[in-house]
Amino acid sequence: MAVVVNKKVIKKADKSTVASICPMGVYTYDPKSDTLSWDNEKCISCGACASVTTPGAIEVVYSVEEAEERQQDLDK
Ligand code: SF4
Repeated sequence: MAVVVNKKVIKKADKSTVASICPMGVYTYDPKSDTLSWDNEKCISCGACASVTTPGAIEVVYSVEEAEERQQDLDK
């Protein structure tokens, strides 16, 4: 249970939205530095964050390991 965040696609408004709507408190957003961080260990893959953000900004996957691999590819 985890998410992958496409940093090239996600918008500032998306970041504050996901930080407020995630039921598990996965995201932390610092508006001053526009920095979003997330803890995949808390994610239950409910999909709420992906459904309210810019298409392609967040992908829900089903293991932390898969998320780490996908995130590394995206961050290249
Ligand atoms: S899928 Fe659900 S639990 Fe996981 S980060 Fe998104 S809103 Fe939070």
